[in-house]
Amino acid sequence: MADLTAFRDDVRQWLQDNCPESQRQPVVREEQVWAGRRREFPSEDAKLWFERMRDKGWTVPDWPRELGGGGLDEAHCKVLKDEMNRLGCRTPLYDLGIWMLGPAVLEFGTEEQKQEHIPKIARGEIRWCQGYSEPGAGSDLASLQTRAEDKGDHFLVNGSKIWTTNADKADWIFCLVRTDPDARKQEGISFLLIDMDDPGVTTRPIDLISGDSEFCQTFFDNVKVPKKNLLGELNKGWSVAKALLKHERKLMSEMGGAPGPNFTTVQAAQEYVGVDAQGKLRDAALRERLVRHEMTFRAIGLTHFRSFEERLAGTPDPNVPLIMKYVGTEETKRRDELQMALLGFRGLGWEGPDFNSDETLTNRAWLFSKALSIAGGTSEVQLNIIAKRALNLPQA
Ligand SMILES: Cc1cc2nc3c(=O)[nH]c(=O)nc-3n(C[C@H](O)[C@H](O)[C@H](O)COP(=O)(O)OP(=O)(O)OC[C@H]3O[C@@H](n4cnc5c(N)ncnc54)[C@H](O)[C@@H]3O)c2cc1C
Repeated sequence: MADLTAFRDDVRQWLQDNCPESQRQPVVREEQVWAGRRREFPSEDAKLWFERMRDKGWTVPDWPRELGGGGLDEAHCKVLKDEMNRLGCRTPLYDLGIWMLGPAVLEFGTEEQKQEHIPKIARGEIRWCQGYSEPGAGSDLASLQTRAEDKGDHFLVNGSKIWTTNADKADWIFCLVRTDPDARKQEGISFLLIDMDDPGVTTRPIDLISGDSEFCQTFFDNVKVPKKNLLGELNKGWSVAKALLKHERKLMSEMGGAPGPNFTTVQAAQEYVGVDAQGKLRDAALRERLVRHEMTFRAIGLTHFRSFEERLAGTPDPNVPLIMKYVGTEETKRRDELQMALLGFRGLGWEGPDFNSDETLTNRAWLFSKALSIAGGTSEVQLNIIAKRALNLPQA
């Protein structure tokens, strides 16, 4: 405990001294620092902040020091996260490698794979994307058809992936492929790491309602993938995929949606709906929705905290991330609906001088929030899994 207190003091001081003022503001999408061979920094401050955090190993604080991480245990990581939140420090580096692939390489990778990929992720040198879904395999992921044929020293990959977020900007893709078409569907799948610069890999962006085009369809046309890029055992990729999905769901349950407005929901209510002489929100129906939402968000925060304490105590409940992915993303959608209702017609602004950035961000975050209960497994499918695994309910 004394160690944690001293660590907190050191971290607080270090952040105070090293996090530039501009990096203590809520981040907008254009100012996020993404990893990659073609990495770009939106400002000198963003570069400095990234480099300082990278040099401490704090882009991935819980990964081993010898592989570029910070070597911190969960309790120390939480202190770092708390102190960053307290000061409003921005996340110094964004990448699917950090959130999803890295933990899977640490768990399933060979020593050579760890040495090859982990430091590059920690240093933000490679941007990763995820190649799971296919036009005919989303919720029923195990039906995937992208083939990888064993050709001796390499696999020959043919097929396509869809909804691959930012594939056009990524350097590498982690992919689920079918290596045994005759086995039961979960048993013939392998997990491959593929360089997007390899001949035969192409991407095509897909436009979204929110005005972005983060999604791509990614095509593999006779792509030669070296055998050393197989993560985990041949035909055992489903186990890697499931482990990785756990990280994705945990991330989604904690992240709270797209970059949104700077105001809190309560501030938005006060500003756009107004309060009466007693300080109560003027609109009773909106007041009730606001209270419900604030209570639910508080309960979600406390549940995350309890879950953290249980993990520290060595008694984690494996069902919590499952349940929290569902609860967290559904409540974020409700929050964004509520913020739109609070703003009234001011929430309808898209761009231009008539609306301020908080108003247009409210609109965009609301549209994007619809995706949250789809990505990483839809809410309906989550409920099926919760019913089966967490509640042991009988199946039809
Ligand atoms: C923002 C975002 C980012 C994404 N990024 C990526 C990415 O980077 N890489 C990647 O591979 N994929 C990505 N995806 C794809 C995502 O994983 C799939 O959209 C998701 O798994 C659902 O698959 P689907 O779209 O094919 O829908 P479908 O599986 O066709 O489902 C359609 C509808 O049917 C319902 N349904 C399906 N099966 C059942 C069932 N058994 N019981 C009840 N209801 C059911 C679903 O809930 C849904 O409402 C992303 C999606 C989003 C929204």
